[in-house]
Amino acid sequence: MTHAERRTALEAIATEVRACTRCKLAAGRTNAVPGEGSPDTEVVFVGEGPGFNEDRLGRPFVGRAGDLLVKLLGSIEWRRDDVFITNVVKCRPPDNRDPEPDEVAACAPYLRRQLEILDPALIVTLGRHSMARFMPGARISQAHGTRGAVDPATGAPDATVFAMYHPAAALRSAAVERESFDDVGAVPRALLDARARRAAAREPVAVMAVGAEIAGDADAIPGPDLTIF
Ligand code: URA
Ligand code: SF4
Repeated sequence: MTHAERRTALEAIATEVRACTRCKLAAGRTNAVPGEGSPDTEVVFVGEGPGFNEDRLGRPFVGRAGDLLVKLLGSIEWRRDDVFITNVVKCRPPDNRDPEPDEVAACAPYLRRQLEILDPALIVTLGRHSMARFMPGARISQAHGTRGAVDPATGAPDATVFAMYHPAAALRSAAVERESFDDVGAVPRALLDARARRAAAREPVAVMAVGAEIAGDADAIPGPDLTIF
């Protein structure tokens, strides 16, 4: 997909989200928050759901948690416009309660389609609810700062996931804030490794060569001219 095709496809999803009534969160929202950022990014940050300020403005991470996210990104010299930022649910849960399983399930196709279009190398989860979608069964206290392979059913084939605490949790605890700055410091390295992992998974000659080695037939290893797409 070209830059223009990705931008158009993301805008089409955003238009659907703004009119969506697939779950009960539609009733309480002021604005749905589809997500925003660079259509060309290799990194998608996934939060939990819009809060008060996000609901008012229709944009993700624009309140105090957003300010901290921008600072975390700044500490590795990244800007929010360089990445794509979205949430597990696109409408604000009343009183900022946790999103419920039926709401997460109803909203999941939007995130999956966004990931299919962006095809990121790295997904950074912010908080437990986002982590649960990409690292099922993990505990945030142990998983923050670690990586895993992403299930292609999430929409992002060959991607790596990197878990972080939610910035709102860092606002409530100086210890979590310190750990969040440590964790984000590992993100650039995680991206380099995620790129390499993905390139290896998508390299047809390497895959063929491994297959031939397993078959024990060295002559069957194809040369570069036998690349199959
Ligand atoms: N918290 C989230 O999880 N997402 C936002 O967009 C803002 C705050
Ligand atoms: Fe639709 Fe998701 Fe909003 Fe529910 S949270 S109304 S599924 S966009």
